[in-house]
Formats: sequence, C-alpha cells, structure tokens
Amino acid sequence: MQRLCSPIAFLIVVLLAMGQNIQAAPPRIAGVKAVPRSIMKFERDYIAELGGDFGPLKEGQLLDLRLLSGKSYVDLELSGIQRGKESTTFRGLSFKPSKGQPTKLSPNTLYELRVRDGGDFDVVADPSAKAWVLLDRKKRDTIATERLRDTRNKLWETPTPEENRAALKSYEDLFDKIKAEFPMLTFVRQETEFFIVYTDMPAGQIAAYSANLDSMYQQLCTLFNIPKDTNIWVGKCPVYCFVNKEHFMHFEAKLLDNPATEGVQGLSHNSSDGKVMTTCYRGNSPVFFAVVLVHETAHGFLHRIRSSGRIPPWMNEGLSEWIAQVVVPQSDHVQGRFSEALPILRSQGSLGGDFLDDSGRIESWQYGAAAVLTQFLISTDANAYRAMITAIKEGYSWQEALDVTFGLKPEELAAAFGRFISVPGLRP
Ligand SMILES: [Zn+2]
Repeated sequence: MQRLCSPIAFLIVVLLAMGQNIQAAPPRIAGVKAVPRSIMKFERDYIAELGGDFGPLKEGQLLDLRLLSGKSYVDLELSGIQRGKESTTFRGLSFKPSKGQPTKLSPNTLYELRVRDGGDFDVVADPSAKAWVLLDRKKRDTIATERLRDTRNKLWETPTPEENRAALKSYEDLFDKIKAEFPMLTFVRQETEFFIVYTDMPAGQIAAYSANLDSMYQQLCTLFNIPKDTNIWVGKCPVYCFVNKEHFMHFEAKLLDNPATEGVQGLSHNSSDGKVMTTCYRGNSPVFFAVVLVHETAHGFLHRIRSSGRIPPWMNEGLSEWIAQVVVPQSDHVQGRFSEALPILRSQGSLGGDFLDDSGRIESWQYGAAAVLTQFLISTDANAYRAMITAIKEGYSWQEALDVTFGLKPEELAAAFGRFISVPGLRP
C-alpha cells in the first residue's frame, strides 16, 4: 500500500520544490520593444541651441529628415517650430505644403535631421522638459574622436559605394578560395538584405538560420535605436559555414591563418578596417548551431556600432548570449549555463573576482551570469543600456560609462545584480 504523506508534509515538499525551482531558474530572457532615445546626462554637452540667428532651425530652412521607421524626406521647407519652454527644446515641426510631403511631423518619429548648410543632428527626447532636443553630431564626433585617440580607436564612417563594392568582392574572393580548397564539397551562396551565407549545408537548411540572423539584426537595431533599414556592415556580413568541424578547422588554419580552433564552433572575425565575418560549423545540434551563429554574428554587430572601441568581455559575451537566447528561445543554453553559474556565485559570494575586468576573457561558467546580467541591465533601463554601450564606443571606460548612465559603481552593479538573482551581497 502506498503511504500518503500528511497534508502539511506534502505542502512543505511542494514549497521546497517550488523554492528550488524559483532559485534554479534564471530570470526570463526577453527581447525589447522600442524605447524612445532619451537624453542622458553625459549627452547634454552636445545639445544644440535652437533660438536666435545661429540656431539650426529657422523658418524657410530646408531640411532632410530620416524617421525611426527608416522613411526619409528630402528638402522639406520648415514653416513653423513648436518651441518648448527652453531655448533648446521643441515639440513639433511644420512644413510648407508640398505634394507627397508631410506638413507636420511629431519629434518622436524622427531619428536624424540634416539642415542644409547647417549640420547634422540627432533628435532625442528630453523627458525632464517634456520636449525634444537636437544633438550636434559634429561636436559629438569631434569630442569622441579625441577620446578614442588614446586607445587608437576610431569612429566608423559610412562606407562609400566603392568601399562597399570592394568588401563584397573580397567576400566573393574568399568564397572562390574555399571552393578551390574543398573541391569535394558542394557549396551554395544565399544572400539576404544584410547577410551572405556561404555554406556546404543542404540549401533547404539555410533559410531558417538566415531568418535567425535577420531577427537578430532587427532586435539589435531596436535595442540600439537604429532605423531598421540601416546597413551597419561594410557591404554585408558574410557567414562562412561548414557542415563538418574538420573542414571548418582546416579553413581557419589554411585560409585565415588561424590554427587555434580546437573546441571552437564559431568565430567572429572583426577587422580594424570595419569588415566583419562569421565563420562556423553546423555540427549535429540544429538548435545549438542556431545559438552559435547568432552569438558570433552579434559580436560583429557590436563591433560595427559607432566605433572600433572595445567593449569589455563580460558585456560583449553577455549581449551575444542574451540576443542568442532572445532569437532562439527553444534553446536551454543560457539556462544551462546559468544553472552552472548559480551555485558558484552563491558559494563564492562573487562574480569571480576578474569577471568585470576589461581584458582577457571570461570563463565558460561566467557566460550564463553575463547573459542574465545583460537581461538585468536592459530590463532595468534599455535606454541607459544603449547609452552605456555608446559611451564606451565614444571612448569612456566601461566604469565611467556605467556611472554616467546607470549611476552605478562596479561594486554597486554586482550587489544590484545579486539582489536580482537572489544572491544577496554579491561582489564583483
Ligand atoms: Zn562570444
């Protein structure tokens, strides 16, 4: 006969089981919805004065506008400015009626504005003034270039059509070398708006992975407030993908001069000239391969944001793990890595001592923590997260960037993250 436990004992067992579950499961990784670009304290130096004779917005002025939706308008004649309370703020713009052109635009739809002979400006919300401001790009670029000089990094410029063509040709040239190196394999080439996949996978398998890449692209554009039709790459982002590990390793060693690929399923090759490419092999787990592909390509995306400035490993891996989990929700990869990390975080009471360092790499068990830490920062304030990455890309140290966006010191970040994952008193 089966012995039934008493209702109270049963309840305790259930509560214990629930408690374990609650503690073992990582906080859910979820994508972001678009949040308005709101000005952060460190960006206030770039606010353009609008009033007077020298302001960029004057009636009769011709403007080129780009909307967050990606739509653009050229030569709109400004007929009215709905000003805010301060001389730097505005709440709306009106335009002289013209066929097929809008007569009014709300600032919350605007991304950038070019004033004929008057400079380029970002349109950013200023919630404290319940209005919008223009940020002077030239001024901002000058200051960022100066900051980046110490670390020999540079702002990316929009590639010229020639540069795009040359990059695309170099991707094709590498594909030709691959075909010559592996005459026994049959390769296909599949191109989407922002990616070119070169692979010996069966053609029917490629579409789903390409869709993952497109989804990653859209989600990162949303996170970083980049209009979705923007091409962030030089040319496109090529992805060279082999079915088998041995072919991938041979390709890396022979054609890319990289013999150190043992234990590696994918790589993001980021060049100082701005070109990036993803290389990988499929292996036998379609879901895990999808994670690898998105993870590596996200490193390339991050390389292409704003400048060549280096993002510290915990943020870089954290974002790549985070976006891979968002795009491939059927994977339990982050959950597995976080379950591995949690007992270590608890027993050590710290993220590992060197987790937040700028240099080196984070250890395998720390990837789960990095992903959940990224979720913590993005869900706390996605606008501050965007601004933090931008600040690093403009030459701030990550500690300064964390401070001017989230208002946290590294120890405070560790402690706040500890509270988020129920590990009180967590240290860096
Ligand atoms: Zn990585």
